[in-house]
Parts: sequence; C-alpha cells; structure tokens
Amino acid sequence: MNKLLPTSTAGSLPKPSWLAEPEKLWSPWKLEGEALREGKRDALRLSLHEQQHAGIDIVSDGEQTRQHFVTTFIEHLDGVDFSKRETVRIRDRYDASVPTVVGSVARQKSVFVEDAIYLRQLTDQPIKWALPGPMTMIDTLYDAHYKSREKLAWEFAKILNQEAKELEAAGVDIIQFDEPAFNVFFDELNDWGVATLERAIEGLKCETAVHICYGYGIKANTDWKKTLGSEWRQYEEAFPKLQKSKIDMISLECQNSHVPMDLIELIRGKKVMLGAIDVATNTVETPEEVASTLRKALQFVDADKLYPCTNCGMAPLSRELARGKLRALSTGAEIVRQEVLG
Ligand SMILES: [Zn+2]
Repeated sequence: MNKLLPTSTAGSLPKPSWLAEPEKLWSPWKLEGEALREGKRDALRLSLHEQQHAGIDIVSDGEQTRQHFVTTFIEHLDGVDFSKRETVRIRDRYDASVPTVVGSVARQKSVFVEDAIYLRQLTDQPIKWALPGPMTMIDTLYDAHYKSREKLAWEFAKILNQEAKELEAAGVDIIQFDEPAFNVFFDELNDWGVATLERAIEGLKCETAVHICYGYGIKANTDWKKTLGSEWRQYEEAFPKLQKSKIDMISLECQNSHVPMDLIELIRGKKVMLGAIDVATNTVETPEEVASTLRKALQFVDADKLYPCTNCGMAPLSRELARGKLRALSTGAEIVRQEVLG
C-alpha cells in the first residue's frame, strides 16, 4: 500500500436480508441451489460496493458466501461429519453444537478460490482474505479421531496452507488467519499455536496477517469481557512469539476495549491492523473518536505500519449500522492521515 493509514475491516459484514436472516450468527440461507450460488455472488458484489462507497482502502468479500467464519471452511473438508454433532464449550466461554472429526481431515478442492477470483475481477484495490486459524478451527469441533488438539491443528495448518497458496495465486494481497483462540489458550498458544500458524503461511509471498480479538458482539462475549477486569493483558501472552514470527501483520481489538495501548510496543516492527471501531455497540463512532484511538496507537507503532481497522467482524450488526461504522473508520483515518502528513 502506498497510501498512509490504509483502512480495512477485520472480516465479515452483514448480509442482505434476502440472502440470510440478518443480525444473527450461523444464520440459515434463504435461497438454495443455483439461486443461492447466484445470491452469494450478488451479495459479495454489493458488499464490495459498500466498502468502496465508504472509502475503505483494502477490501474483502465481506464473508458473504460463508455462514460462519470457521464452520463454512470445515464443511468443505473430508473427515468431518456434520450430521454427527456434539456440544462443546467454545473459547472456554459458550456451548455450541459442532460437527465431529471422524477420520483423517483433507481438502479435496479449494474452498474460497472461486470467490476470490470473482472479487479480483471486480476491483483493482488490494484484497484481504480471511481464513480461520488452526487453533480456532480445532476449538470449533468435536474430535473423535485424532484425540489430540495439537495433532489436529497441524493437519489443519497443512490444509490452510494449500488453500492460502491458491488464494495468493488468485491475486489476494493479504491473507488473514482468524485466531480469537489466541486470547484464551495461552499454554497451547506458546507450545504449538504460533508454530501451526507459521506452518499455514509457509512459502507464501503475499502478506500475511493474524486477527486476534475478543469476539463478535454476542452476549457470551460481552458477558466474558465483563469478567476481564479493568486491564485486558491477554495480548501480552501472544505478542512476544508473534513478534519473532514470520507473520507480517497483527489485527487487534482496541476501540472501547481495556487493552493497554502500550502492549503494542511488544510487536514493534510488525504492521498493526488496529481496531478503531467497536463491533459490540449500536452506536456509530464519531470520526474524532476513531482518530483519537489511532493517535494513541501512533505512540507505539510507526505511521507507515498502522492499518486502521474494525475490532472484529460485523456480521451480527444491521447493515445501516455497519455502513455508518465503515464511513466513520475512513473519515477518522483521514483526519489522522492529514495530521501525519502535516
Ligand atoms: Zn474477531
């Protein structure tokens, strides 16, 4: 990116109500067959248009073709039985009915590459594509085959690497791995979490990012946040290892959060996608609020490495709210861009 402070979103954006029930996670599709395939494409195009209209610099598919950021990827893999469901505790926080790993996991064909090619044809802007990270994938499944979180994570890392290489070939500029689990499982993170993530990016020439957040604005997450006290130091666990890793960019939740901004010093040298939009409120930030968060971050990250972003995905929000927030992000970033350029 030549532009200073390029804006982007963490990932998902709301879907149109004709495609899926709005303001809901795991919302069922309203179409089927060919109409669904076409509807997803139309929604992707619409989502791109909304990002462009709001002045977002690094665009995405808005995750319009996925029901969920983890399970949709897993649906395309061998070895996972979606009819055999078990209730597991996700992120050590809330129970969900998830599919079961019943045999060796494998990817027979690409999952998102056709969507990426389609998006690439629609725009010359840089594209960021989100994939789930290995540790977050195993945390959204019941494993009756490997019976080892670590073994399964290494298998998923291999599969993610295959997908990522095809996305890169399709013209994706930044591949992001979503690892909210990095904010929860600190021992595993240090034992093998960052290592499996590095396996997932092996051999990639495009830029790579990891998104670590406190989750969507759903009740289980907002309740959990209330228990975390006045200083959220979870990032401190992952940052030293990530600073030494080959990951280029780190996407963080900083708007309305209790994350001490000076923690960012621990990843000095990395590009920081800084969450300056809260996805758990029904209020649109003012551009000045966004600017204020970015200014604070600039104490700890060089301006050429600061990427204004949202805290997390916006799938559960209303479209109007998400549009307002995207606009606030780009307007707020522009205020600080002008200040930096002096
Ligand atoms: Zn997130």
